[in-house]
Amino acid sequence: MDFNYDVIIVGGGVAGSLCAWKLSQQKNLKILIIDEGANELDENQRKEFVSTFAVATNKSQLSPYTKLESNKYAVNQDGGGDKFNLNRYYVQPGPDLFKSAGVRIVGGSTWAWRGNTPRFLPNDLKLKTTYNVAEDWPISYDDIEPYYAEAERELGVSGNDEEWDNILPGAYRSVKFPMPNIVQSYGSLQVKDKIEGLEIDGKTIKVVSTPQARNSQAYDGRSACQGNSSCIPICPSGAKYDASVHLNKAKANGVELKTSCVVTKLEAGANGNVNQVFFKDWSTTAIKEQFLTAKIVVLATHGIETPKLWLSSPTLGNKSDQVGRNLMDHLAEEVTGLFPDPVFPFRGPQSTSSIEVFRDGDFRKFCGAFRMTIGNDGWGRREPPIKSLENLLLEDLGVDDSGKKKTGILFGKELQSRLEERVTRLLRIGYSTEMLPNKDNRVTLSDEKDAFDLVRPKITVKIDDYSKKALAYGYSVAKRIFDRIEGNREVEPIAPTL
Ligand SMILES: Cc1cc2nc3c(=O)[nH]c(=O)nc-3n(C[C@H](O)[C@H](O)[C@H](O)COP(=O)(O)OP(=O)(O)OC[C@H]3O[C@@H](n4cnc5c(N)ncnc54)[C@H](O)[C@@H]3O)c2cc1C
Repeated sequence: MDFNYDVIIVGGGVAGSLCAWKLSQQKNLKILIIDEGANELDENQRKEFVSTFAVATNKSQLSPYTKLESNKYAVNQDGGGDKFNLNRYYVQPGPDLFKSAGVRIVGGSTWAWRGNTPRFLPNDLKLKTTYNVAEDWPISYDDIEPYYAEAERELGVSGNDEEWDNILPGAYRSVKFPMPNIVQSYGSLQVKDKIEGLEIDGKTIKVVSTPQARNSQAYDGRSACQGNSSCIPICPSGAKYDASVHLNKAKANGVELKTSCVVTKLEAGANGNVNQVFFKDWSTTAIKEQFLTAKIVVLATHGIETPKLWLSSPTLGNKSDQVGRNLMDHLAEEVTGLFPDPVFPFRGPQSTSSIEVFRDGDFRKFCGAFRMTIGNDGWGRREPPIKSLENLLLEDLGVDDSGKKKTGILFGKELQSRLEERVTRLLRIGYSTEMLPNKDNRVTLSDEKDAFDLVRPKITVKIDDYSKKALAYGYSVAKRIFDRIEGNREVEPIAPTL
């Protein structure tokens, strides 16, 4: 059989683009990446995303991307903002909701990601052996360590070797970070001053810099971070890594990129090898299903679309009955408060520092681990500065003599100083927990169709008690940290994932 390509890679996110770039170093291969998005990969495109975001009325995690033509056919999932916009595409019968966002454009979610890149710990891969919980992975930290090193070099990770070599038992690093860490924000150093050395349940709090795929100095043809503080949803300078880097490198090595094509199914030949990729090109007037062939097909469409596509492809089979099962997320909450003194957020990336000591320990026998981040973005989505301004303008002044509600109108110097007094002290501490594998947390096919007459994925999720305990524990630790800081805190965690 004559094939159109040696390799077709479905999905031009970071997984697909790294795969294409690596394969393209073998000069004789004819490679195609096929993606449903149609955006460009250059600086003009970045500027356009930035200006769309600048004028967006709803500054959601995905506001630069939702107006793209592709979003009609490849619906982006917005897990953030006040209004969850998750079920425009996902079908979720419950009992809990899967709330992770994703960006279905060329380059995928890395356009919008935060770029934090801490590695797994050795014990994360052997929970059963160490804590009698869940299952061990069939691979160990030793197996993946060299690949971490390679990925950090490719993405350009900034980090502090002294802090991160063996940050927790066994988490060694065989190579140095490609660049020094991103300078820790003024605010997180103020927090560090107050809480470093605090003992919580036998753990000593240590505030460290977060490794991140963001240039701390010029690297790989991209500038150092310019501190715009808009990493989610878009880095204006390109200092934060996104998959456009390796898509452009792959293209320069001869890889073809076919855009605006939603892959609808894959087909295996008689020998069981997958050779046919079916797709619909939404840029054509009479949209019809077409196909291309390859010796090897790589499916790199991430956690939801990969099982959805597989299950939509009858010839691929599912003998193990494992396709789409054990869907996991990192459940996250955050606690917000006012720091006693100004921390001057919004200068630098949205988070530069973290607390890692709760990522491992005997408590994992009954409660999930978590890592904590110290925000540098005020109260994040809970109260962006514009909301602080609105709140002050409409301040509740109680009731007048006739019992009528009074709102105050502040202006001039008083407005200025009250705004400054508040916005400069906003502090957010987040915690992201692990979630255990559960075969019933899964992606299957729903009965509902999308704009392309393709089935929408059904996502069934129930959060286990182990994860709920981790969220409760994270909250209790965050409260104790705020107690030490002695700030006025808001005690209800926000954006609960349950
Ligand atoms: C707001 C946000 C913050 C994040 N922060 C972090 C962080 O700090 N650290 C971290 O490690 N991770 C973070 N993530 C997650 C991280 O970005 C993703 O795990 C990662 O980008 C996934 O890469 P991928 O290539 O596997 O998939 P994706 O990026 O989802 O790419 C999949 C590609 O496949 C294409 N595609 C999908 N279906 C089809 C189809 N049927 N036909 C054709 N093309 C298709 C899509 O258009 C896309 O280009 C964050 C994500 C978001 C959204």
